[in-house]
Amino acid sequence: MKRSPQYDVIIVGAGAVGSALCYALAVRGLRVAMIEGDGQPATSALRTSAITSRSLAWLRSLGVWPNAHVPAAPLAGLRIEDARGQGRLCFDSAELGVSELGVIANHAALEQVLKERARGMPDTVWHGENACAVRCRDQDIQVTLAGGTLISGSLVVAADGKHSRIREQLGVRSWHYHYGQRAIVADVALGMPHEQIACQRFLPTGPVALLPATDPRKASLIWSVRTDEAERLLALPDESFNTALTDAWGSSPGSLCVVTQRESFPLAAGHASTYTGNRFALVGDAAHQVHPLAGQGVNLGFGDAETLAQALIACRGEDLGRSAALRRYERERKAVNVSMLIATHALHRAFTHRSRILSQILATGLNVTNSLNPLKAFFMRQAGSDAP
Ligand SMILES: Cc1cc2nc3c(=O)[nH]c(=O)nc-3n(C[C@H](O)[C@H](O)[C@H](O)COP(=O)(O)OP(=O)(O)OC[C@H]3O[C@@H](n4cnc5c(N)ncnc54)[C@H](O)[C@@H]3O)c2cc1C
Repeated sequence: MKRSPQYDVIIVGAGAVGSALCYALAVRGLRVAMIEGDGQPATSALRTSAITSRSLAWLRSLGVWPNAHVPAAPLAGLRIEDARGQGRLCFDSAELGVSELGVIANHAALEQVLKERARGMPDTVWHGENACAVRCRDQDIQVTLAGGTLISGSLVVAADGKHSRIREQLGVRSWHYHYGQRAIVADVALGMPHEQIACQRFLPTGPVALLPATDPRKASLIWSVRTDEAERLLALPDESFNTALTDAWGSSPGSLCVVTQRESFPLAAGHASTYTGNRFALVGDAAHQVHPLAGQGVNLGFGDAETLAQALIACRGEDLGRSAALRRYERERKAVNVSMLIATHALHRAFTHRSRILSQILATGLNVTNSLNPLKAFFMRQAGSDAP
């Protein structure tokens, strides 16, 4: 007699994306196993993420948002400046006819809330060990845990981040582009209130962004610089770092002072050759990685989770690992994710080039876009806002 798999879906990786997917499937009655590695580095408490209104709408529909345990500042506007070409582009929620463009949320707190929701589902089984190997069989897919336990499911979902071991085990090829940069993050006190506006300034060396915090006089800094420059800036005493940062900004937000330690993260882009195959699917950073300059990484991951959850729920009762849901998911998400990957990469290249003429073209492009509201609404929709 054929034995049916223990689980409908096995998800490897309880980051924000894997946890949200787990919860979305479990609330609709699917039997889910969640595998979250021990000994993995904890998510930095300093990291914030811009969460778009499209992602918030999905989290709201799951009953996860709003959440008192996640510090989050509403985003009323966005200002983008080219430090060399005098170009400027401003997005304003009131002007675009929406209540907010999204929120800036503490990433670790959001991840924790999603993890707890997923873990609290009665039919979800949590395994606190690394997944080491996968083996696809005719009737199921088996995952081997670090302690030797074997679990079986109809489908395995790799949500184990940019260095996905499951992707590698499944033999899925992926390409990676390293920007040779690190993003320095810290909380910063501002010389004047942020008025819920995120500012990003493109310097020839990379973008520097200040994202509004819940305190009106504080912001989260994300400063992308070459790796050797990041090492130099991280080693500076606070006072010298503050001077370097204030210089990089020019005068607009007044003097800037770090109020926390500084941390840094390597920056890369990447993409898997396929998102699905025989009894597997890839979501989030395991499938794609983008430069954080457009604040899209986890939003793309939430889009993956939402689409995959809907497709799997629609195929309930079938063999999920072989269902048409997987092809639908791949078709829909690849188009969105690849476009965003190309757009962020092109933006990064355009702003860090050394040509004066290109500078002037970019400045003109920003200024022209700035004067055309329908064009601005179009860009915001592409970036996940609910602009009309
Ligand atoms: C500086 C910076 C700023 C950013 N800002 C934004 C932003 O403003 N907006 C935005 O949308 N995105 C942003 N991003 C991107 C965003 O953080 C990522 O896209 C997102 O966290 C990816 O989530 P994930 O769940 O796919 O992967 P991860 O968060 O990497 O989670 C993977 C999980 O898998 C687990 N795991 C790994 N291997 C195994 C294994 N073998 N077995 C079991 N478990 C395993 C890990 O412990 C981890 O919990 C930023 C990124 C950086 C670096």
